[in-house]
Amino acid sequence: MRKRILVTGGAGFLGSHLCEILLRNGNEVICVDNFFTGSKDNIVHLLDNPYFELIRHDITFPLYVEVDEIYNFACPASPIHYQFDPVQTTKTSVMGAINMLGLAKRLKIKILQASTSEVYGDPKIHPQPEHYRGNVNPIGPRACYDEGKRCAETLFFDYHRQHKLKIKVIRIFNTYGPRMHPNDGRVVSNFIVQALRGEDITIYGDGLQTRSFCYVDDLIEGIIKMMNSPDDFTGPINLGNPSEFTILELAEKIISMTGSNSKIVFKPLPEDDPLQRKPDITLAKNRLKWEPKTTLEDGLSKTINYFKRIIK
Ligand code: NAD
Ligand code: UDP
Ligand code: UDP
Repeated sequence: MRKRILVTGGAGFLGSHLCEILLRNGNEVICVDNFFTGSKDNIVHLLDNPYFELIRHDITFPLYVEVDEIYNFACPASPIHYQFDPVQTTKTSVMGAINMLGLAKRLKIKILQASTSEVYGDPKIHPQPEHYRGNVNPIGPRACYDEGKRCAETLFFDYHRQHKLKIKVIRIFNTYGPRMHPNDGRVVSNFIVQALRGEDITIYGDGLQTRSFCYVDDLIEGIIKMMNSPDDFTGPINLGNPSEFTILELAEKIISMTGSNSKIVFKPLPEDDPLQRKPDITLAKNRLKWEPKTTLEDGLSKTINYFKRIIK
């Protein structure tokens, strides 16, 4: 049976990959996006598919459509973009969640929320399991995003308890791949673009902070498995790649893979930048039989090829 599926933020990096796979799996897709950080280029190849529909809309305003399932991905995700208009970031997470939950409640349908590892803040437990409650500064520059996403999780669980809504909450850890915005300041896109242009590679702090990088195709597979898991399994569930690297290691790998002459330079560490991050994915392994398959080398190589094409 063909389902009609709403993807908010569908013109963004992750959303566009999700739209593509959902269409490939035989569904109809309605993509809603206000194009704040997303782009038509990400979905242009889907526009002549009769089962794909694009709506320019800001989810902080109500939306009335008839669908069978919702993936709520709308929200700027990189620090420079979410800090550009922090009030709008919180509105997108909180008012956007209320509107999408209201829509799901009216239609009595399942809704999945793209939450984030940022709900753990600068974590004091390593790796981070889902029961860890986090260490978030509520008044810092990252709070518009972190606290917005935490409040969205609260809303999801209250609609679930109060209105018996079917919910799924995933906590996504750093994901990379083709269609990342070349100027959104995230570390993988920054380093690749800098290396390809022969510019200095900018490491913030001493580069010993860690992240765990998941290739986009692996993540999308986990997301769809979570949506299709039994109704009594709400999450929250971590989705990410548990292989952990320092930012310095990432820089060196990208320099060597691109054969670049770029030099590494050190810049100040942004306020509240988490020192270490790595998902505990035991729950995803047990409940979804999911774990990432793509190595950092393979994923980076595909991503480098993408950036070579678009920055020409
Ligand atoms: P992205 O910026 O590429 O995509 C976000 C999309 O949402 C964009 O197309 C943007 O135009 C759209 N959008 C923003 N505000 C909107 C609004 N008010 N109404 C309608 N559309 C709006 O970022 P992404 O990396 O694809 O992230 C997608 C989702 O996944 C976000 O919710 C993000 O918080 C979450 N996430 C991503 C990562 C990651 O590593 N990529 C990690 C954790 C969580
Ligand atoms: N909403 C929406 N589309 C719908 C149904 C509701 O955008 O199809 C919005 C609506 O504007 C409302 C929000 O979702 O503000 C929350 O809806 P809910 O029914 O939970 O609350 P109420 O309407 O009682 O405020
Ligand atoms: N980072 C860096 N140089 C850059 C961009 C980012 O050293 O040009 C660092 C950043 O300070 C952080 C890590 O890389 O420690 C990951 O940053 P990103 O913005 O990609 O994701 P997040 O901090 O949200 O995990």
